[in-house]
Amino acid sequence: MIAEAIHQIEGSLPEHAKLIAVTKTKPVALIREAYVAGCHRFGENKVQEMVEKQPQLPADIEWHLIGHLQSNKVKYIAPFVTLIHSIDSLKLLQEVNKQAVKHHRIIQCLLQIHIADEETKYGLSPDEAEALLHEPALDTLSNIRLIGLMGLATNTDDEAKIRQEFRGLKQLYDKLAQQERKNVRFRELSMGMSGDYRIALEEGSTLVRVGSAIFGSRN
Ligand SMILES: *Cc1c(COP(=O)(O)O)cnc(C)c1O
Repeated sequence: MIAEAIHQIEGSLPEHAKLIAVTKTKPVALIREAYVAGCHRFGENKVQEMVEKQPQLPADIEWHLIGHLQSNKVKYIAPFVTLIHSIDSLKLLQEVNKQAVKHHRIIQCLLQIHIADEETKYGLSPDEAEALLHEPALDTLSNIRLIGLMGLATNTDDEAKIRQEFRGLKQLYDKLAQQERKNVRFRELSMGMSGDYRIALEEGSTLVRVGSAIFGSRN
């Protein structure tokens, strides 16, 4: 069933887009099943859970941190994380760089942009993101790469509203992508979950983060 869902979603992706299977709350056995089915890219929203699962699974897996990240927890994921989707401050980016240096790694990052109506969702405003990209201090962060943006649409049945939010994020992406720096080169736009990834793909997503449509609902 997991394999079928993965193949069905991957088969529907445009060429420039990739699937991240979101495995939060799911046991390692199920992740292994997804791995065997050909999915080698997984997303977790909690540092501790990702750190527990990672050593139990094959080393060629790409691990994506998709949830809110506190500076004091960066050190736990720095040895292996592929892409951090949830950068929301220069301070956090500086900590990621510091830990990346320690581990002789380059860590790729996305800026999380607040696009939903809901107050509880994290992220930068478009203006804050633009300001961050103009920070002179960014140039000193040699071991990070800022490769794009991430956003979560409002949790609603109103497809027009979801589409509008994704379209706004894509417009911001296109605008900010013009400002390349030494460690800034946009190529990924992370948007879309189980309920709205089809809309997100139509609006230009390159990374869809899909959990329940693959693994079933979380309790
Ligand atoms: C849980 C989660 C997802 C996946 O949600 P589903 O609705 O299960 O597909 C995607 N992105 C983030 C940031 C999440 O926390």
